[in-house]
Amino acid sequence: MTGGSPTRRPLRFAIIGAGMSGILAAIKLEEAGYRDFAIWEKADRLGGTWRENTYPGIACDVPSHLYSYSFAPNPDFSHIYSPGREIQAYFEGVARRHGVDQRIRFGTEIARCELRDGRWRLETARGARDEADVVIAATGVLHHPNLPGIAGLDTFAGASFHSARWDHAEPLDGRRVGIVGTGSTAVQMVSALVGRVGKLRLFQRTAQWIAPQENPAYGDDERALFRRDPAALREIRDQMSRMFAEAFSNAVVDAGSPQMQALEEICRANLETNVVDPALREKLRPSYRAACKRLVISPDFYAAIQRPNAELVTDAIERVEPRGVRTRDGRLHELDVLVLATGFRADRFMRPIQVVGRSGTRLDDAWAQRPSAYLSISIPEFPNLFMLNGPNGPVGNFSLIEVAELQMAYILQLVAEIRDGRCRTIGPTAAATAAFDAARVEAAKKTVWITGCRSWYLDDRGIPAVWPWTFDRFREEMAVPRLEAYERDG
Ligand code: NAP
Repeated sequence: MTGGSPTRRPLRFAIIGAGMSGILAAIKLEEAGYRDFAIWEKADRLGGTWRENTYPGIACDVPSHLYSYSFAPNPDFSHIYSPGREIQAYFEGVARRHGVDQRIRFGTEIARCELRDGRWRLETARGARDEADVVIAATGVLHHPNLPGIAGLDTFAGASFHSARWDHAEPLDGRRVGIVGTGSTAVQMVSALVGRVGKLRLFQRTAQWIAPQENPAYGDDERALFRRDPAALREIRDQMSRMFAEAFSNAVVDAGSPQMQALEEICRANLETNVVDPALREKLRPSYRAACKRLVISPDFYAAIQRPNAELVTDAIERVEPRGVRTRDGRLHELDVLVLATGFRADRFMRPIQVVGRSGTRLDDAWAQRPSAYLSISIPEFPNLFMLNGPNGPVGNFSLIEVAELQMAYILQLVAEIRDGRCRTIGPTAAATAAFDAARVEAAKKTVWITGCRSWYLDDRGIPAVWPWTFDRFREEMAVPRLEAYERDG
């Protein structure tokens, strides 16, 4: 379906966001011969997640050679799971080498996108305008901080900030630091901070299962081999992809699978073996199944929380006071710094951009109940608007880079329909979207995510909002669009 045609229509694109997906979109558009595009970025630097999250200990728990573009392997990653600053530098390097950085309009927030006469009109927060035939929303998933409604938070006399808004001016060494939350972010932070701070208090509302994962550094000889022999690096990436899919991604979508049981056993053994004090062990033992919440991976969290200057606080937070956190048992935990590792609002996607589609349909109305998208990419009544890592996609249990690459290849096939003059706009039918949604809700019943925990995977009804099938199924779906699921105008 991507074959040539006499009518090749010149197309203009707008990419919103210059994180991992936006950079990818720009590179892939160029590669496909589309030169007319703008990349809009609200911040003054590219990198998305890796620009915004700079907390101590930040790393990616997807192996680095898998968490990198297939077309831009990086032989120089320092570790199997490399720190955030290396990942940020990697994206900056790729963007520079592909000339993408030159094309980003930094400091420019898109406030509104409206479809008029088959074209998207974009307006920035400062009132500048642009037009595009196709919009690619590469606006990320976990980027709107979830600020907890804890009473008295604004009365705290010390420094307080969300994990994604780290205040690097604030000294930590030798001080009393409190962390609220026990997700992947908090766990990485605890390991990184406990050796530096005077006292570390972790405020746990819900215990987490922790999968142990060693993180050895690559030696100079290994990195030299990767540089000399790109095929060896590709083989490692393929191996990692297969292992990740089999041992984790495919396990979590089948709660009864032997792989899921093996994963649970690993987490249980980690807790039993590595936490010495029985009382602390019970406080750290979750009451739900492993991987029901996004699995936390750490080689050393249990060691860190058992250090003499660390304390796990499990009494509920009553309120924050100027001197610290008061828990329900009446204790005041005095603090100099309070970090909110309380996660993100996972249902925002491209909002707060005001998106107005066909016949004046507003995205806020289309998503009034909850966000949804056909195959995670597009929305009925919003033709020629495509999302990378949109709602209902495989976020959380695959490498998001692999996901975005497959999605972008799929989107380019839809775009070819427009370029080759077979239509002017293309978007999913309401029927196809409803059928996809029904199938995904049904499939979600088999996943481990509904086995009795609260997590950001769940929507307002308690149904997992994310891709409930295997990675192979995702790959198959992304191979070639089924055009009968789309309506085409013009
Ligand atoms: P998260 O997993 O959503 O965890 C938020 C934590 O804050 C939870 O422990 C939650 O408790 C707690 N919390 C929220 N509101 C609270 C309140 N009012 N009072 C007390 N506790 C409260 O957030 P995250 O750790 O930032 O991670 C988000 C996602 O980002 C992860 O799941 C993962 O997908 C991704 N991530 C990945 C990496 C990586 O290495 N790849 C690293 C960091 C993050 P409850 O459990 O009780 O709700």
